[in-house]
Amino acid sequence: MHDQAGYAAAVRGAGPGDAIVLADGEWRDFEIVFTGVGRAGKPITLKPQTKGGVRITGRSNLRLGGEHLVVSGLVFTDGHTPTRDVIAFRRTKTHLANHSRVTEVVIDRFNNPERFETDFWVMMYGRHNRFDHSYLAGKSNGGVAMAVRLDAPESRQNAHRIDHNYFGHRPILGGNGGETLRIGTSHHSLNESGTLVENNVFERCNGEVEIISNKSGGNVFRGNLFLESRGTLTLRHGNGNVVEGNVFLGNGVPHTGGIRIINKRQTVRGNYLFGLTGRRFGGALVVMNGVPNSPLNRYHQVEDALIEQNTIIDAHHIELAAGADAERSAPPVRSRFRNNLIVNTTPRRSVVAHDDITGIRFEGNVASGVMGLPQVDGIATRPVQLVGGAGGLRQPADATFMEVGAPRDLALLRREDVGPAWYPKPATAPRFGGGQTQRISPGRDTLTAAVEQAGAGGVIELRPGEYIVTKILTLRHPITVRVVPDAASRPLVRFERSALMELAEGGSVELIGLAIDGGLAPDAYGNSAIRTSRHALLGNYSVRVVDVEARNLNTNHSFNFLRVAKHTFAREIEVLDSTFRAVTGDVVALNAEVDDLGLYNAEYVTVAASRFVDIGGAVVNVYRGGTDESTFGPHVTVRGNRFERVGLSKRNAAGAAVLLHGAQWVSVTGNTLVGSRGARIVETVGEPIVAVDGNRWVDTPPLVMTEWP
Ligand code: CA
Repeated sequence: MHDQAGYAAAVRGAGPGDAIVLADGEWRDFEIVFTGVGRAGKPITLKPQTKGGVRITGRSNLRLGGEHLVVSGLVFTDGHTPTRDVIAFRRTKTHLANHSRVTEVVIDRFNNPERFETDFWVMMYGRHNRFDHSYLAGKSNGGVAMAVRLDAPESRQNAHRIDHNYFGHRPILGGNGGETLRIGTSHHSLNESGTLVENNVFERCNGEVEIISNKSGGNVFRGNLFLESRGTLTLRHGNGNVVEGNVFLGNGVPHTGGIRIINKRQTVRGNYLFGLTGRRFGGALVVMNGVPNSPLNRYHQVEDALIEQNTIIDAHHIELAAGADAERSAPPVRSRFRNNLIVNTTPRRSVVAHDDITGIRFEGNVASGVMGLPQVDGIATRPVQLVGGAGGLRQPADATFMEVGAPRDLALLRREDVGPAWYPKPATAPRFGGGQTQRISPGRDTLTAAVEQAGAGGVIELRPGEYIVTKILTLRHPITVRVVPDAASRPLVRFERSALMELAEGGSVELIGLAIDGGLAPDAYGNSAIRTSRHALLGNYSVRVVDVEARNLNTNHSFNFLRVAKHTFAREIEVLDSTFRAVTGDVVALNAEVDDLGLYNAEYVTVAASRFVDIGGAVVNVYRGGTDESTFGPHVTVRGNRFERVGLSKRNAAGAAVLLHGAQWVSVTGNTLVGSRGARIVETVGEPIVAVDGNRWVDTPPLVMTEWP
């Protein structure tokens, strides 16, 4: 077929055994409705002329309705769905697909441009459907990437298979709705789904605290690889699920977690968990406390759990009876914890019981390097030497431990075993450096020209002298702007517009060894040295400022160093070894998410070893409002800085030199504040970790810590 009318006619006439072939090329704004009734062994097939040769772009989607349908080889890219779903295994609420398969399909960054306009990439309905060997990566707007729906009786006990897929990078969403896979919803969670999730790779699926949110019964998660993904496979609702033979490789990456157990008759067996650093509900293995007579959407008590033969190496946190509090007061009962192997190559106190664990029977477990183990029989402390096993996974050298830990033949799924073979999996995201270096001389717009030429990872080196920038520099890649090595003085950058630079989609910036002067900027409200696009940004960006002297950001009031827009999200903001002098607004203002929905503007914020003099607004203003618990951040470090006369402007909205509202990790240490407004930390939800130490408050009110509400 060469056009949409031809396609529609072909679908109308298709019967068992027929194939509809789309001509290679771009099919734009194509809402594909694929219906028909095939037979077992004689499906109706929709495929491209060549695998990967058809690109579905623009406002497009796919709905399947009928029996024995097969879709293969399509690529959804450069667009988004105009409806709620990209691929739905139903045409309408009552016309579902059954015995159908979607295979070797690609959905690559097919995102609504509005960060919090929610949509879903794959929605499974009906029964006996399969989604396999597909590639889903780069979902950056709100909404789970893939879900199995149980809202009709015809979609339950569905025997769906989800296998050999590549679930690639999902950036941090900064709010709820960033799951990669969900099966069921709390409303239908006591129904059986009966879905098999097998041999998939989940790589850097970092959207939120749940990588997989299981909300139904009778599902099996087997042989999957979770690679450096933040969050856990969460058995959130529903009973009788099996989590078996999966591999979780955290490799020490922050917030990587394993398996979280809630509800009845869950089996967690033969899994391998390595280098998982997550804590609390995001730990390597978490067995929750329940709520007595829990409503559907809270926490059912753990009953009859079987946790056996798992290998857990270098996990930071194994949490038993987790979440125990006045509401979650029902500890696990009738549960067994057998033949598990827990090894820390660096000794640590990694196993903690938060409540009564006499309802868990421990048998035959071996621990090594675990300090302060809960006092139970059934966990023997033994020295365990690890060696590389057949599948690349580590196992005890000593054969006496054969019965303990994950099976010795557990294999490591490889990236090349999943997804369509013809579609390349991404290398890691572009970073600072690594691109071409340009060395430039002072002058009018020499820097502007260099930025326009720079590609991803490009480095622009400035010789000493004065650089005048007459246009706002728009950055669409990570770009480094730094002084040439061994320069005698700092290059001075001055800018004539309301901002020196603006970060567009894909843009990040690193500034090293420069002086930045705002004195030429217009006498107008709302200037900034660096700002994000005024519109939502899907990607996560970074700003690094190292050894920079910024001054005279004062041509009007409320002149910020960094200003961000609502629905933009920084992976990291770093200000190190720098000096800021004469700024009328905020230095780092990350308070654009004002709706109290648990959203925020930056995951990691570090301001250290810097000096701030005559700053009208706050040095750091971070705001995350509301009570949502789906995120790990923000993380804020303010360390070893000197503040002089900071925050005194009557327009300082923060009313403080440092305001941190709702941050989850806070460290304010070794700072000296002189003649300044104080610092304020407002704790909201989620047991934030707060360290305040070694600060000096000279002619400055002391730090105030409050709880909200
Ligand atoms: Ca969630």
